[in-house]
Amino acid sequence: MPEPNFDFDLLTIGAGSGGVAASRRAGEYGAKVAICEASRVGGTCVLRGCVPKKLLVYAASYAEHFADAAGFGWEVGEPRLDWAKLMHAKQTELARLEQIYRRLLRDSKVELIEGHARLIDAHTVEVAGRRVSAKYILIATGGWPELPSNLPGIEHAITSNEALELAELPRRLTIVGGGGYIGVEFAGIFNAAGSQVTMLLRGDNVLPGFDLEVRERLADQIRARGIDLRTETGVRSIENQVDGSLSVMLDHNEAIEADVLLYAIGRRPASAGLGLEPLGVHVGRDGGIVVDERNRTSVANIYAVGDVTDQVNLTPVAIAEGRALAETLFHHRPTTVDRRFIPTAVFSRPPVATVGLTEAQAREQHETVDVYCSSFRPMRATLSGRDERTSVKLVVERTTDRVLGAHMVGEDAPEIMQGLAIAIRCGATKHDFDTTIGIHPSAAEEFVTMRFPVPRDE
Ligand code: NDP
Repeated sequence: MPEPNFDFDLLTIGAGSGGVAASRRAGEYGAKVAICEASRVGGTCVLRGCVPKKLLVYAASYAEHFADAAGFGWEVGEPRLDWAKLMHAKQTELARLEQIYRRLLRDSKVELIEGHARLIDAHTVEVAGRRVSAKYILIATGGWPELPSNLPGIEHAITSNEALELAELPRRLTIVGGGGYIGVEFAGIFNAAGSQVTMLLRGDNVLPGFDLEVRERLADQIRARGIDLRTETGVRSIENQVDGSLSVMLDHNEAIEADVLLYAIGRRPASAGLGLEPLGVHVGRDGGIVVDERNRTSVANIYAVGDVTDQVNLTPVAIAEGRALAETLFHHRPTTVDRRFIPTAVFSRPPVATVGLTEAQAREQHETVDVYCSSFRPMRATLSGRDERTSVKLVVERTTDRVLGAHMVGEDAPEIMQGLAIAIRCGATKHDFDTTIGIHPSAAEEFVTMRFPVPRDE
């Protein structure tokens, strides 16, 4: 039973990964829970991010499989992608997933209130024409793609939201912010699907913040696929042309043409319009709600999880934060999320996956660091003839022998890295890696067969 004077024990705003995880776990512990959602149930991950993106990555991967098949003796006719059919299949799958999310909420006895929620006071929310009160409020409204505010012609650009819904495959796609997660992922999808892709990066390479070798290897592979990857290039203006295409004026006065211009320059926490500031909920300059290690905001009974806090913007982190909150509030088990060694993957072509420290970070934090690298032609590429290399790297603290980081560019990297993340989180040493028997023949075995560190000037 909720405490007297409150309609609910927990009221969550936002039915995405974090909000649903927290609400369901709280409901399973007997709390009376409601969740408000202004749009469809499922949030960015299910509806506008991870899931539709990965479906398109799968679709794109067939282009390479068809091309590679000949080397293995297959005679395949001229493959043709029916984009409209793919989009329809993807929509059907998302609708199915949304229904599953709704059912899961019902099964956990969480009441779904559909409408835009706004806080009236620290315990009351106005939503769908009614006022609802709760002992605890959880903000889990996620984020939204950012666009520059004052760039001439920016209204002609789209974001990842629309890129996942394009009715037609663009002949020419230009991606601004092309070096980020979304940029490299969408470049891979559309390049494989048959678009001419141009990536415009304002920095000097893809994936800022990732290990340098990973960045260089991925950039090589992106270029090898025929993508026009341009670094240190900005956009001055965008103009719509009579034939419906776009003329994109670059900052060195070159104009390039595109049928679709995708901006992927980061995402902004969706904290506006919730009525937070008048209540004293502290919001950072970038819009992220400020929380402590238990996801509590500056107002004692109001919490926030996931991308709206702008900390680690990854679905599994939002889910972990949501569940930890339910443990803390409704299961007498104060829980914090362990943020060390969070693995991450980028579903570029080829994919990238990483856990722990980059070499540069390790050298900043530790005096003696060894790195072990291997770059090889994956077995599939021998018969297919594809010009492809897989790269793996381990970063090791020499005195303790502890593995501080693992990095990979190549097929199956995300699948491999999940397992390595467990080992590294458990404190595995290089000796543990060396004495682990490999799985042969696999790319993963390279991680346990690298014998000598790469010579580096120290
Ligand atoms: P990212 O932060 O990953 O990348 C944005 C890129 O845009 C950076 O390279 C940045 O460069 C550049 N940039 C920023 N502002 C401008 C500007 N004004 N003009 C030109 N370039 C600019 O953002 P994304 O939008 O790709 O993704 C958002 C977040 O979503 C990711 O950070 C990640 O947390 C999450 N995500 C995770 C995925 C996964 O787990 N596989 C997939 C997709 C998204 P600079 O470094 O110079 O600022």
